[in-house]
Amino acid sequence: MPLSEDLRELYQKVILDHSRSPRNQGQFSTDSCVHIHSDNPSCGDEIDLYIRFNEDGSISDIKFEGQGCAISQASASMMTEKVKGIPRQEVLQMIQDLQHTVLGNGEVPNSETLGELQLLKGIQKFPQRIKCALLGWRGLERALSSAKLTLQA
Ligand code: ZN
Repeated sequence: MPLSEDLRELYQKVILDHSRSPRNQGQFSTDSCVHIHSDNPSCGDEIDLYIRFNEDGSISDIKFEGQGCAISQASASMMTEKVKGIPRQEVLQMIQDLQHTVLGNGEVPNSETLGELQLLKGIQKFPQRIKCALLGWRGLERALSSAKLTLQA
């Protein structure tokens, strides 16, 4: 589905806003959180996620530090605003839905739960930026699976 002019403008505004003033920036001491480093060598993006989990596996708090292009940092910033306190299964679903959105794989069934993240479908026009947009999310996916191991242990 092509983006309307309005949506494109909004997309640029939101990406700029988050890349200029990233939310939840910083870190926790690594003994109190799961720390995941991700990088995207083709663009030079790096994201370090620091995530604290509740006993039920949901995320109690999340911070990130990073450098790289506006899209990688804005997408990670938007992610940290979105996933706190959400049940683990819903976060995993959100990661799937976001991937479909960014890759342009047809209609996303739960797109309304993505809220402003839906704007990231603007990336479809810039395929070389898809890795940037997903960098933080792939890190989150890894963090969720490592937290599962910890919880089961
Ligand atoms: Zn990038």
